[in-house]
Parts: sequence; C-alpha cells; structure tokens
Amino acid sequence: MKYYMPTTIYDGEDIVLKSESKFKSLGKKALIVTGKSSAKKSGALDDVVKVLHNCDIEYKIFDEVRENPPIYQNLDGARVGEGSDFVIAIGGGSPMDTAKGIAILLKHGTDNYVEKLFGKVNYDALPVVAIPTTAGTGSEVTPYAVFTDDEKQTKLSMPRRVFPIYSFIDVKYFMTAPQNVKISTIVDAFSHAVESYNNVRSTPYSELYALKAIELFGKHRELLLEDDICEDVFEDFVRASTFAGIAIAQAGTSLPHALGYPITYHFGVPHGIANGMFMVEYFKLSLEDKVADILRAANFKNLDDFSEYMNSLISRIVGKLDVKEDDIVKYTDMLFENTAKLKSHPREVSYEDIVNVYKNTLRLVSK
Ligand code: NAP
Ligand code: ZN
Repeated sequence: MKYYMPTTIYDGEDIVLKSESKFKSLGKKALIVTGKSSAKKSGALDDVVKVLHNCDIEYKIFDEVRENPPIYQNLDGARVGEGSDFVIAIGGGSPMDTAKGIAILLKHGTDNYVEKLFGKVNYDALPVVAIPTTAGTGSEVTPYAVFTDDEKQTKLSMPRRVFPIYSFIDVKYFMTAPQNVKISTIVDAFSHAVESYNNVRSTPYSELYALKAIELFGKHRELLLEDDICEDVFEDFVRASTFAGIAIAQAGTSLPHALGYPITYHFGVPHGIANGMFMVEYFKLSLEDKVADILRAANFKNLDDFSEYMNSLISRIVGKLDVKEDDIVKYTDMLFENTAKLKSHPREVSYEDIVNVYKNTLRLVSK
C-alpha cells in the first residue's frame, strides 16, 4: 500500500497574494494557462499578475484553453510559453490539465508532441502551480490530465503523471462560476469520491478522504437544487472536491468516467453530469457494502432515494439525448478496448452489463 501526495496545498483567503515567496522560488519566467474568461471573472488572474509584478517575474498568458481540451492545445500553449521556468494554471480541470501537458512540452520540446504526452517514454514536466476555480476535478492535487482525441472520438487520460507543486485554494475564485458549472463540477467531485472508494485500488488512506468528501456533499446536497449557494457552504464543496482529488490520486476513477467520456464527446454533456448519469446503474454492479457506506455517508435512505435526487439534479442540466443502439455498441466496444477502468472495478462486468447500463441510463435520461 502506498500513499503519495507531493502537492503542497495552501488554502485560505487571499492566499495567492500572501504567497509571493512561493512564486519567486520557481524562476523568473512564467506561463499562465487559462480559459477564455474564468481567470478574469474569478479575480484570480488579477491576484496572480500582482504577485508576479511584485516578484519581477515575466509572464505570458495562454488563454485559449477550451472545455474538454483537445490534445493539440498543449502544443499551442507550449509555443506561447517557450522559455518559461514554470506554469501557472488558473481555472477548472480544462486549464489545469492542459497546463500539465504544456509543462512537459516546455521541458522537453514540442517536436513529436503527441508521442511525448501519450507515448511509452516517461517525460517529466516543469513545475505547475494550480489555482482552481471549479469545485470538481481535483486536478489541483491529482497527477492526471484528460484530453479530447478527435481521431478516437472520445476523451483520453494522459499516461504521464504531473502533480502540481503548489495549489492555491481561495473559495472566492469559485463563486463566479455559473450554477450549472457548480452543479456539474460538484457531481464530478462526488463521482471521484465514489469511484475511488468502490475500486480495487482503494486503500484506507484514499477511503478516509473519499468518505469525508461524500459526507460534505451529503451535508449540503439539497442546496444544489436551489439557485444560490453562499460562500460558507461552498467552502465545504471546495474541500470535498480537493479531498476527492486526493482520493483519486491514490485509487483512480472507474466505470462512470469511462461510460461518460463518449457522452461528453458526442453530446457535449458536461463531464460531471456525464459521470452522475450512470451512477445508479453503476451502483447496481458495485459491492453492496461499499454502496451502503456511500449512501449512508451522503445521507440517502436507499438507492431509490439516491436515484430520485440524481434525476432531479441532472434534469436541470441535460435534456433528451438521441443515442442510437449502434452508438451504444460503439461506446461499449471502446470501453472493452481500453480496459483500465474496467480493471479498477471490484466486480467482473460483462459486455452485456455495460450495454444494459447504457440502455437503462439513457432511457431514463431521455424521458
Ligand atoms: P472546465 O472545462 O475547466 O470549465 C467549465 C466552464 O466553466 C468553462 O466555460 C469555464 O470558463 C467556466 N468557469 C470555470 N470556473 C469559473 C469561474 N470561477 N467563474 C466563471 N466561469 C468559470 O470545467 P471542469 O469541470 O472543472 O473541468 C473539466 C475537465 O477536467 C474535463 O476535461 C475533465 O475530463 C477533466 N478532469 C480532470 C481530472 C483530473 O484529475 N485531472 C479529473 C476529472 C476531470 P473558461 O473557459 O473561461 O475557463
Ligand atoms: Zn472527473
């Protein structure tokens, strides 16, 4: 058994502004990686720029990261950041993941970039500082990065492992996210906790963080059905997300992530909701005692109670999905071609089981 979490987390009000020495220790040139607007709206970019000015650190900004980022954005970002000593990610999972890929290319060059990110040789990365603005992926404390592969028409987890060196967590940066992003990302965090808990790689260490994350989700989950969540409550969701990130950094994710990737790719369903959609059917294939622990920790009476709650949450965000029988076969084939997530599930799952999970879930969602 192993517990490894090399990221140092700094958490608190104005924590970026209070951490000049940490930025100074990483070099003289930085690349800031972010999306179109989250860094500005959240106020995080202003704080980072202030700190970099005070520390005489030169910086460039790559602010084109798309949601569910395609692999080539790593190349685009690395070209902008040539000569940087370190990378600062501001945003949700999309910018944080892309910063990890870019940090590899900045260290090792941009030629054969796909091979460097996805090939067999294990390339390391420049230091990455992560400043999350969504309470969901936990990418600020995980070594993972997920990219869209247009050739395979799905999403792929990069085999390289890049833990951020520092994470700066300030709840005010999360509050500007739209309600649908807040809901989707918190469901992602919940799914991380659940999938790491019901996993062949779970350990007492990962389970501790996972159960705490599930409890925090359960404590405030009813508020997700309303339209406004205050900062004090949201702080618990932010913590749940980081705890769940620490749990998947140890144990990984599992079937709902694999089931959801093609749904995100083909129908644009947000990542967290794409996981959440499959949760009820996934529980039916899971270890009963683990499911009972999860439902108890999240304060659900039983699986029906959970199912009713998830349906009301998901129907706020996703409408009818026109998935054909042929598509289901294609998605199931893909899941059986790349078996990592299947292997992390603690029970034998057949091809037929997965087809049924898709059918039963999509029938419900398509009502
Ligand atoms: P995201 O794709 O990073 O962001 C979703 C949307 O929310 C974007 O439009 C973004 O704007 C906006 N946004 C984010 N924070 C905001 C804020 N504070 N204020 C206003 N708008 C804000 O969403 P995500 O769910 O956090 O990340 C999803 C990605 O992470 C997926 O690709 C998923 O596969 C991956 N993922 C990674 C891990 C991991 O361990 N590395 C785990 C799970 C999932 P901008 O475009 O302006 O940024
Ligand atoms: Zn996820």
